[in-house]
Order: sequence, then C-alpha cells, then structure tokens
Amino acid sequence: MRVLVTGAAGFLGSHLCDRLLAEGHQVIGMDNFITGSPENLAHLAGNPDFSFIRHDVSNFIFVPGKVDAVLHFASPASPNADSPFGYVNLPIQTMKAGALGTHNTLGVARAHKARFLLASTSEIYGDPLEHPQTEKYWGHVDPIGIRSVYDEAKRFAEALTMAYHRFHGLDTRIVRIFNTYGPRMRLDDGRVVPNFLKQALCREPLTVYGDGSQTRSFCYVDDLVDGIYRLLLSDQHEPVNIGNPSETTILQFAETINRITNNSAGIVFKESQRTEGDPQRRQPDITRARQTLGWEPRISLEEGLARTIPYFKQKLGLA
Ligand code: NAD
Ligand code: UDP
Repeated sequence: MRVLVTGAAGFLGSHLCDRLLAEGHQVIGMDNFITGSPENLAHLAGNPDFSFIRHDVSNFIFVPGKVDAVLHFASPASPNADSPFGYVNLPIQTMKAGALGTHNTLGVARAHKARFLLASTSEIYGDPLEHPQTEKYWGHVDPIGIRSVYDEAKRFAEALTMAYHRFHGLDTRIVRIFNTYGPRMRLDDGRVVPNFLKQALCREPLTVYGDGSQTRSFCYVDDLVDGIYRLLLSDQHEPVNIGNPSETTILQFAETINRITNNSAGIVFKESQRTEGDPQRRQPDITRARQTLGWEPRISLEEGLARTIPYFKQKLGLA
C-alpha cells in the first residue's frame, strides 16, 4: 500500500511509519512540527519508500500519486498546561487538527477510495463513570472544561469519520488509544512518563499531581503500533480500544520509576492546573481488540521502561 501518515514526526506517527515500512509499504509522512520533530524521522532520510510533506492538515491537503490508506494522527496530545506543547496552550490548533484536519484527511481518503484510520483517544470517555471503559460507553465529558478542546475535537472527529463511513461508504477505522509511552516522546511536553523519567534520571523528586490516587494504564509503543496495524488490515469499522489493561495509581507508578532508576530523591505532591478535570480512573476494556484483532499487549511495564530509559538518557546527555 501507499500510505499517508499525518503527525508522522510525532511520537506515535514516527513509530507507525517504521512499522509500515518494515511491512513493505510505501509511506508519505505529513507534519507541521507543531509538537513533533524532524529528528524523529531523521533515520528515514534516503529511504526510497519514504517521502515527507511539511504541511498543516487544517488546510486543504494535496498528495501527488495514488494513496491506498490514510492514517490521521496529527494533533497535539499532551494535556499539560505547564508545557508550551500541551494542548491547553494550543487550543485552537488542537480543535482545528481534530475538526478541519479530520475533514481534510477524510477528503483525501474519499478522493483516492482509500481506507482511513483515525487516531482517537481514551479522552473521549472524559472522566469516566464506568470502569473499565468498553467501546459502548458514551463518556462523561465537560464540553467547556480545560480539556474540552482535545476531547470534543476527537469526539467530533469520530462522528465525522462515522458519517463518511455511513453516508459515503468510506472504508474507515477508529482506534481509541490509551496512555502509551516509549522512545521519541517529547521530553518537555509534560506528560507523566517523560516528566517522571526526566526527573528520576536527573535525581530530582517526582512531581505527583494531586494525591496520586488517580489511575492510568500504560502501554508500550510497539504493542500499540501492532494493534493499530492489525486494525488497519481488519474490517472493523466500530471504534476499538487499544491500550494495556494493567492499571496503576500515579503514586505507585512514581514509586516504580524511582525503584527502576535507583532514584532516592523521592516524591513531591503538587497542585497543578492539571488537577482540574484530571480523569480519576482510566483502564481500557480490550475485549473487542482481543476478539476481532487477536491482539493483546505483550510487553510488561518494567520491560517497556527498560526499553525507553536509554532514549531519555541519551536526550539528557547522560548516556
Ligand atoms: P505527538 O505530539 O508526539 O505527535 C503529534 C504530531 O502531530 C506532531 O508531530 C505534530 O507536529 C503533528 N501535528 C499536530 N497538529 C498538526 C497539524 N495541524 N498539521 C500537521 N501536523 C500536525 O503526539 P503523539 O503522542 O504521537 O499522538 C499522536 C496521535 O495519537 C494524536 O492524534 C493523539 O491524539 C493520539 N493519542 C496519543 C496517545 C498517547 O498516549 N501517546 C493517547 C491517545 C491518543
Ligand atoms: N501527572 C503527575 N505528574 C506529572 C505529570 C502528570 O502526577 O508530572 C499525572 C496527571 O495528573 C495524570 C497522569 O499523571 O493524572 C497522566 O498524565 P498525562 O499528562 O501523561 O496524560 P493523561 O493521561 O492525563 O491524558
């Protein structure tokens, strides 16, 4: 296939490009570098199966030649208001990437009769009242809260994708991604994994927001990309949760990171703008992915962190 990947210079997009190329596909990466970096694609320079278009997906998209699949991953993704790369500080760009960017990428897929895959998120469940979250749950989202620019853009993106599927017969897929980590995460986007790893490797205390009783479930990037690739090849048009169901409190997670990195600086509890609207519990029900894609995560948290730490050490000049 000849595949367009938007958000290709980001954390997930760059790993997705690698997997698609490894499977023998041709890849066109698209990105405007608002939160991503050309460094994430530097290793693909000179690869005849890879090309890159610098472009903002909020504007009309033209791709020369035939396209067989469109994977729309372009969007700021960190909720952290303390980082300039957090979507709270890029609110209009985030809504445009989710709304106009989804419209434009659906348009490309329709023009080329290509299959389409949308990167959605566990955030569409908001601060969930059902636990764990199945794809049937409609969510609990504040339409004007601090996270709404991201949550509502992704909910609109899902609705538009289903409209193109139902009305135009477009061959669409929707992946609801739960917290994922690994090499090539931005060190300064404020998400919990880069924050904690950076702090631990620099022998600083880890900043736990609130009392740390909120939970998350962390998936290693290779597992996630495998689930997405299986979804792309499947005929599943309903949304599919992809994530690791192994749930941990943020406090336990901080303790694990301090133990693995031998950091004795401990933990500090911090009030943050983040605590407003911070989902209290998040854990995917992955029954649908198991049954329809034969997928489940294979990489444990300890193994995933061991694969991630060398990248952070290198970026921090500690390797
Ligand atoms: P990221 O910030 O590393 O990557 C996003 C990429 O999109 C960046 O390279 C950025 O420059 C690009 N981009 C943003 N707006 C753009 C625009 N208008 N035009 C062109 N490029 C644009 O984030 P990520 O973690 O890799 O997330 C990728 C996708 O996966 C996002 O859609 C995000 O919502 C979704 N997602 C990620 C996670 C996660 O845990 N990493 C969880 C749920 C959903
Ligand atoms: N968090 C934290 N300390 C940090 C960064 C994040 O305690 O330095 C918490 C945050 O409040 C949230 C969880 O870690 O409860 C996950 O945050 P992240 O930004 O990674 O993404 P989210 O899952 O909220 O979308």
